[in-house]
Amino acid sequence: MSVELAGFVDRHAHLLRTASGNPPAWRTLEDVRRLHERCAAAGITPVDEPEPTALTGLAARLLDALEQAARVGLVEVWEAGVRDWHYLDALLELREAGPLPARVRLLAAAGLAEHGMRARTGDPWCDVVGVKLYADGWLGTRTCALSRGFLDEDTNTGFAFETADSLVRRIEPHARAGWLIATHAIGDRAIESVLDAYERVWGDDCAAAAPRIEHAQLLRPDLVERMAGLGAVACIQPGFGADDHADALRAVGDGWPDAYRWTRLLDTGVPIVTGSDYPIDALAPLEGLRKLAANPFDPMDLDVALDLMTDGAAGTVRLSHDPRSRSVEDVTNVAVLGTTPAGSPGPP
Ligand SMILES: [Zn+2]
Repeated sequence: MSVELAGFVDRHAHLLRTASGNPPAWRTLEDVRRLHERCAAAGITPVDEPEPTALTGLAARLLDALEQAARVGLVEVWEAGVRDWHYLDALLELREAGPLPARVRLLAAAGLAEHGMRARTGDPWCDVVGVKLYADGWLGTRTCALSRGFLDEDTNTGFAFETADSLVRRIEPHARAGWLIATHAIGDRAIESVLDAYERVWGDDCAAAAPRIEHAQLLRPDLVERMAGLGAVACIQPGFGADDHADALRAVGDGWPDAYRWTRLLDTGVPIVTGSDYPIDALAPLEGLRKLAANPFDPMDLDVALDLMTDGAAGTVRLSHDPRSRSVEDVTNVAVLGTTPAGSPGPP
């Protein structure tokens, strides 16, 4: 007895880049930390440098990746920061043959966007939707920008790659053109700068523009209130509360009442969208759903978690069982039977 539900949408992944076979710019946390140190010293951000991708064979690799996405139940995937337009060209080439296995939305990395945005395609299967900026580092590398030192590195407060001023300067032209803005910010000091910038760019119109903060992990109560007041959207990673728990306690202890507390964000009125950050976490949304519900910082009801991770406007997914009828640990035993992204050629 199968069930048809709103389809899973992943609004922050690096699926296409991973599929492209491009060698990653980092391999270990040490490599990432060195990258962040280098960027901070050079006054650039990790998404500013181009990352050329060979067009030859790219379309076939992207098609494989999108088939993989459909198999795990995704009807739409957002690529969080393309640094080469060859991805769009390859997707458009695939579109000439028909619908894609899953709908794709591209956020252009700020460096690429400043070289020239491509026009919206207007194609429901494949479109450019906005610009990705990068305000600080990561928690695992102790490079996210904090207002105080890390517990286990007390003289280190991380790196802010942007200030509110630099963000305003970079965001304004794209905001005027109507692009969605999504800024990576993990530490409270970076999140504060991003909110300062969003407030200056949009003022009272911020909620309508719905700019996003990617990750938003180490929040403070005052920042949660500001996000709710402005209508800034948190793009959270369903698996990160579970995956980061032990390391986050080592890094910042338990004196951060709003770190990874996603139900408190919801209760305060902060809009939330979700994305796996694949390949950092698994692409399979049922795996993310299990971790989001079991978040050790702040468990979430399965039906609330499922609502956050799905969007009926993007399509439907057919599952062997309704995940809400299972225990949290049993959710990953639900089988994905098929997906119907919105816009699919329907039965007559
Ligand atoms: Zn990411």
